[in-house]
Amino acid sequence: SLTLGIVGLPNVGKSTLFNALTSNDALAANYPFATIEPNVGVVPLPDQRLDKLAELFDSAKTIPATVSFVDIAGLVKGASEGQGLGNKFLANVREADAICQVIRVFDNPDVVHVDGRVDPTSDIETINTELILADMQTLEKAMPRLEKEARTHKDKRPVLEAVQQANKVLEDGKTLFAAGMNEVEELRELNLLTTKPFLYVFNADEGILADEAKQQELRELVAPADAVFLDAKVEEELKGLEEDEQRELLESIGQAEPGLNAMAHAGFHTLGLQTYLTAGPKEARAWTIREGWTAPQAAGVIHTDFERGFIKAEIVSYDDLMAAGSMADAKSAGKVRMEGKDYIMHDGDVVEFRFNV
Ligand code: GDP
Repeated sequence: SLTLGIVGLPNVGKSTLFNALTSNDALAANYPFATIEPNVGVVPLPDQRLDKLAELFDSAKTIPATVSFVDIAGLVKGASEGQGLGNKFLANVREADAICQVIRVFDNPDVVHVDGRVDPTSDIETINTELILADMQTLEKAMPRLEKEARTHKDKRPVLEAVQQANKVLEDGKTLFAAGMNEVEELRELNLLTTKPFLYVFNADEGILADEAKQQELRELVAPADAVFLDAKVEEELKGLEEDEQRELLESIGQAEPGLNAMAHAGFHTLGLQTYLTAGPKEARAWTIREGWTAPQAAGVIHTDFERGFIKAEIVSYDDLMAAGSMADAKSAGKVRMEGKDYIMHDGDVVEFRFNV
């Protein structure tokens, strides 16, 4: 499944946040695989639609979609030069589908900042610089081969051109993602780090969590990437509390829900994912697919046999179903459609697949 790799400078709260993301007992029951990898935190994607569906279909339980975050060991300046953890770090980043940078904006004189001060702009630059340098090295290494290929094979020229263009962007100190070059097909084989989508998690204190203007300023700093604001220490404390205690703690810092909820939503969005829904007496469940997937591809997420034997899908949008009040009423209102193998799925489609086995 797709993952976000958590990166950040030392002492920004990565371990604290990662602790909050892991050992979720309720989740482990439904997702046995969730506990297999010690460096992977699996978070449920809160989805109130599931509760409503469970009510309607009298489902025994609800199973939300999940988002996986991988803990990537600390970045040090000079990673791209292979110092210390460098190469291992970069290899782990390469495996992630998106990069989640934790940035410290909390004030705490007892926690040393590696650069001596809390400065989000400079922290973002430090990480970007390492990733940019690593990409420039990748391009430099690939260049002789690409030039040779372009001389003998005309159809290889676009690759060389894309690489040259990418190199210019990197030389200007910009990430390929920020320059809008993340979807360039010709660059795909190089698996460049800065083409990956970014998500920023600002590890904040109460002051910033209550300060909309400051948050807006930080959002603008990282736009168009998503920004999440949370207090990692609070998130870690929440984990051990009963529901009413959780609510109390969140209220005390003026938050309506855990920051991890926002992190799950933002992570899902950053990865370009969406969900469709199924419901029956056993469970109401959200299934994860990519934006733009067809009905058979979506069926394949449940079981490969569903994709292979796909006949058609009975689909009603969640909103139409709720407006009608029941499946039968949605049907008589003409809101339930039979869709074929070319149908492109929408977020919130409530689906029943018909298939041959
Ligand atoms: P890492 O090096 O990025 O993994 O950072 P850690 O998670 O080890 O955190 C470094 C220190 O900062 C620890 O002493 C944490 O308790 C503290 N810390 C982490 N998050 C917060 C926070 O949100 N607020 C405050 N005040 N301290 C934090």
